[in-house]
Amino acid sequence: MRKIEHLGIAVKDLAASNELFSKLLNVQPYKTERVESEGVNTSFFRTGETKIELLEATNPDSPIAKFIEKRGEGIHHIAFDVADIHAEVSRLKEEGFIVLNETPKPGADNKLVVFLHPKSTNGVLIELCQEQ
Ligand code: ZN
Repeated sequence: MRKIEHLGIAVKDLAASNELFSKLLNVQPYKTERVESEGVNTSFFRTGETKIELLEATNPDSPIAKFIEKRGEGIHHIAFDVADIHAEVSRLKEEGFIVLNETPKPGADNKLVVFLHPKSTNGVLIELCQEQ
């Protein structure tokens, strides 16, 4: 794991949160993207070396909708940048972590992503991402 690539924050209203975070960070989102397979609309802000990803559900069955229902808005995941996602997945599996998708899938922002189950990581959803 090389660094925290971004923090993911679950929000109810992406347009409103884009305005809020633009004021907070004093920068506009550099990208907004719909990831249909994940049921999310996302936007990304650069903050120095790292990024903030805002996630809004596109439908009531979206994992983001379920997260907000259970826990309210807030930090949803921490994403780590990795050089070799396949090698990291094997290493972490061997260490006993629960990998949600063993085959990396295309995520937002041109990344290959794998998620670790929060049950195995003290309640925090972990995303591994590798630049494509
Ligand atoms: Zn993410």
